[in-house]
Amino acid sequence: MAETITIQEIRKTYGPVVALDRINLDVGAGEFVSILGPSGSGKTTLLMILAGFVQPDHGSIRFTGREVITMPPYKRDIGLVFQNYALFPHMTVASNVGFPLRYRKADKSETRRKVAGALDLVRLNGYESRRIDELSGGQKQRVALARALVFNPRILLMDEPLSALDKKLREQMQIEIRELQRRLGMTTIYVTHDQREALTMSDRIAVMNNGAIQQIGTPAQIYEEPGNLFVASFLGDSQLLRVDMVGDSTARMGDTTIRLRKAPGAGAGEGFLVLRPEKFEIVRDVPKSSELNVISGQVKDVVYQGENVLVLVALPTGETVSIRRATNEGSRRHLPVAGEHISLGIHPADTIVVKGAA
Ligand code: ADP
Ligand code: MG
Repeated sequence: MAETITIQEIRKTYGPVVALDRINLDVGAGEFVSILGPSGSGKTTLLMILAGFVQPDHGSIRFTGREVITMPPYKRDIGLVFQNYALFPHMTVASNVGFPLRYRKADKSETRRKVAGALDLVRLNGYESRRIDELSGGQKQRVALARALVFNPRILLMDEPLSALDKKLREQMQIEIRELQRRLGMTTIYVTHDQREALTMSDRIAVMNNGAIQQIGTPAQIYEEPGNLFVASFLGDSQLLRVDMVGDSTARMGDTTIRLRKAPGAGAGEGFLVLRPEKFEIVRDVPKSSELNVISGQVKDVVYQGENVLVLVALPTGETVSIRRATNEGSRRHLPVAGEHISLGIHPADTIVVKGAA
């Protein structure tokens, strides 16, 4: 059975550095939760505390109700995968994958059977007698994953396991790990600084910055309803425009009134309109009845990027926003050119407003 993980009020300091400050997080049985944040935000420290390699100053960690804070790492029954593989390079695949079983006093035939089973999961059957230094990066990371899974752990912790791989392999492994985790059902905490990876893989994401959790939610909640300025700017290609909030569903940007998706309790005051390049339309004729917000601007540049074209538009406020268009025939035919005056349409449902001053 999978375990639940309850993290309460975890704090960790290194001298004057507060690596973690009041971390609270509940992870459900079988859930896949990513810890997403920039370098230095405390992700690895939190994972090492969960694994038992780092002792917090304060706080509690429970696995299905049992306090584990004083429990040594080997008793926690956790599968761990690191960024740098942490394999024994001169040993074979089989002896690396079988390593955790030695602690667990498995006999030879049981070890052989379990190692074969774990290699099967990561699609490396037949690689038992290969040496680690004869493998590619992707194969090494599969061995590391097999070693973490070989004793059938109830919790899997991974710290940036794919960051050494190239983009194509990384994206393929994201889908594979996700699929494997769903199939085996162990509770998983996955550390990454890569927003796309977190969005792709997770049931929920905890966004971290400066040792504190900024927001916890599903990928769509984190992306579409960021709770503060940090989350809004960390996810997506966010463009922040200063606005004055007039009410729950209206803001002013210079002379323009912007109708907003309802933000209950937003109230009046300074805020930022968070715009993402995929949320705009270039509008030619706006029907009078349309709810669409229309902002005028002048095209500064049109940048070809392969799958997309970015249209950079200068607004009357002096700010520049970018709009992303797919490079299919339909949208190519209507692409504006540099110097052209155009109208940008943003549906109220696609607006995000975050309160606060810069
Ligand atoms: P992340 O994994 O998000 O990059 P870390 O958890 O590694 O962040 O680090 C969080 C903060 O704690 C950083 O400021 C880092 O310098 C500090 N830190 C981490 N480990 C140690 C340590 N052993 N000694 C001193 N400072 C540390
Ligand atoms: Mg780290």
